[in-house]
Amino acid sequence: MIVCRKIIEIFKEICKIPHCSFKAEKFKEYLIAYCKKTGAKVVTDDVGNIQVVKGDPKICLQSHYDMVCMGDAPEIELVEEGNILQAKNSSLGADNGIGCAIMLDLLERKDNIELLFTCDEEVGLIGATNLNLELKSKYLLNLDSEEEGDIFVGCAGGVEMLCSKPITYEKVEGDWKTYELETVGFIGGHSGVDADKDIKNAIKEMAYFLHDNSCMISSFKGGEANNSIPKYVKVVVVSKEDMVGNSDIKVTKVDTQPMKYITQSKEIISFLNSMHSGVRSYNKELNIVQRSTNLAIVESKEDSFYVELFPRAMSSEDMDRVKVELISQLEVFGFVYKLEHEFPSWKPNIGDFAKRVQEVSLKHFDKSDFVAIHAGLEAGVIVDKFPDMEAASIGPNIYFPHSIREYVEIDSVLKVSKVIEELINSY
Ligand SMILES: [Zn+2]
Repeated sequence: MIVCRKIIEIFKEICKIPHCSFKAEKFKEYLIAYCKKTGAKVVTDDVGNIQVVKGDPKICLQSHYDMVCMGDAPEIELVEEGNILQAKNSSLGADNGIGCAIMLDLLERKDNIELLFTCDEEVGLIGATNLNLELKSKYLLNLDSEEEGDIFVGCAGGVEMLCSKPITYEKVEGDWKTYELETVGFIGGHSGVDADKDIKNAIKEMAYFLHDNSCMISSFKGGEANNSIPKYVKVVVVSKEDMVGNSDIKVTKVDTQPMKYITQSKEIISFLNSMHSGVRSYNKELNIVQRSTNLAIVESKEDSFYVELFPRAMSSEDMDRVKVELISQLEVFGFVYKLEHEFPSWKPNIGDFAKRVQEVSLKHFDKSDFVAIHAGLEAGVIVDKFPDMEAASIGPNIYFPHSIREYVEIDSVLKVSKVIEELINSY
């Protein structure tokens, strides 16, 4: 137990060093110095990733070294109560600082080991995407998962689709009434992992409401981020008829009239109603969403109507299929589009390495399942660059990451570190 406890001591040191995303320079220097002291070879690339090699490694352990800073972070005041380690009024950074601590501890004690510390994962997998280092190992073990026993073996790829359609406006003349429409009570969620939770999309509900009412759009703005299920939409419309709201849409009559409305209002309402948002297909074998789309952001601008879509798929073949479907639909409705920040899927693969990870895990945990996630993971991006590598991802129990409620279970950290050590010893 004494050896394991050292991981927690290392983690406590890490908590003293600021390492919010984009501001982790000090921590990077700390990692480099720490690793060099062990006699390992340390190499970095331009974007800020760090590779550490000792001897002839078979497994590359990988963690990201940035954290999501919430509340008082990077000022972190630790609170340890029994098995629970958390921070007072800030995120803890156990995601993924615990992974870093496990790696540093093992580096000191192992002769054949490779480590990869990636930068800026939390702000769009930047380090992994721009990785420019030659990994030596045959296997990649990512330590950024948050449930002990689970072994991640696949993830979804995704791409941002930025779309716009030219529009014109007509002057409001005559007998129109003006209404402000707002969505109320929508909860939002992650567009990937929550895709199958039947969470209502505020843009879709607004479009459905507009379809039932004969009105013209003066302005339309909705959605928060491309990877969030939209929570809030506000639309100003003009109508010749009285409008009444419902439980999702609050309708307020406004006395002042807007100057203009969008000539193509009907087409836009049809487009938004035709655009499916949520699960497109399901993988029953892995019990996971196979393809999804998020109708994420909509905004009427001076001379165009802007729409952001965010499709995801569990394989590149599926992603191609979704893209063709969406592009065809966009073309029919007169939109132009561009694709940005595409990241690859990691097609679920239970190979020899994943099986070995499970074998060792089962010695320490009552159950150990293979899982895939309908969201992007660094391991997916890395194996896309090194197709001969086999990867898996594990980690200790971490709750409420990215929030001031984040905490980690210490005994879970110690058990997961044992699994990793035994795994290294087994090759
Ligand atoms: Zn993480």
